[in-house]
Amino acid sequence: MNIIKFSAQFPVEKSCIEHFKAQRDACGVVCPKWGCVHPYWLQNKLCYECKQCHHRQSLRSGTVLENSKLPFMYWYAAMHLLTSTKKSYSAAELQRQLGHKRYQPIWEMVCKLRDVMGKRYNLYQLTDEVELDNAFIATLIAEEEKDKPLKRGIGSQRQPKAVVVNESSFVENPKPGKKPKRVNHLKMLVIEDLRADTISKTVNEHVNPKAELTTNDATPYSKLFEQVKSHHAQAIKKEDLPKTLPWVNIAIGNVKRLLLDVHHQLTNEYLQYYLNEFCYKFNRRYFGDA
Ligand SMILES: [Zn+2]
Repeated sequence: MNIIKFSAQFPVEKSCIEHFKAQRDACGVVCPKWGCVHPYWLQNKLCYECKQCHHRQSLRSGTVLENSKLPFMYWYAAMHLLTSTKKSYSAAELQRQLGHKRYQPIWEMVCKLRDVMGKRYNLYQLTDEVELDNAFIATLIAEEEKDKPLKRGIGSQRQPKAVVVNESSFVENPKPGKKPKRVNHLKMLVIEDLRADTISKTVNEHVNPKAELTTNDATPYSKLFEQVKSHHAQAIKKEDLPKTLPWVNIAIGNVKRLLLDVHHQLTNEYLQYYLNEFCYKFNRRYFGDA
């Protein structure tokens, strides 16, 4: 949706509330106390009241807007800005765009939105041809870590690790200069360490057992054949990466550039949120306005 259509559809707080209520009604509103359905709608209190037990729940409860005092319009504008642009927005930039005095509530809103962007895709297991690699993403050191000695190399606090997996399928007769594979879904998951157990657990959760997996032949990947239909582990030279693991490498390069561009004050703690946003947009790149 472009900015003109967005402003036409959501010009004021009321239009956002009406749209939000329609979405909740479509999902079916259930009383959290006894599971009763079809509650009354109390327009002046913006809440539902159960016809049987009279329990009340606000329009926001049970949604990403729960416990937020920010106007619906802020949430809608933030959702629009975060999802309609190829780049990203920092919370400070959103705060400026919304003209809000305090930074903290805006920051919390953006974190919650990025969190749900990830939840949306956590349910989905990648299948078909799956490429897997890991990435080191440079971040700032969090306040509480600052006194600890800085470790170097792989264990460094400034280099959190992420597993990057994508689902792809081979293209029959690719055109010259085009990639041999077409990419479907992408996931980026922050992990504690690069131990074989950690990687296996991640693959178990996010990759379907019917998948055919390609990785390099690093030790942490040595047990993955137990979890998928087939596992091609091969020594991959750096110059061959675009051929063997084309899409994970493009994705890793792009996300690093984006984080450097927009969120250069990033700490480890929030890295997963930014990866969520990146994957959310990537996975919906052909959805157009939807
Ligand atoms: Zn009830």
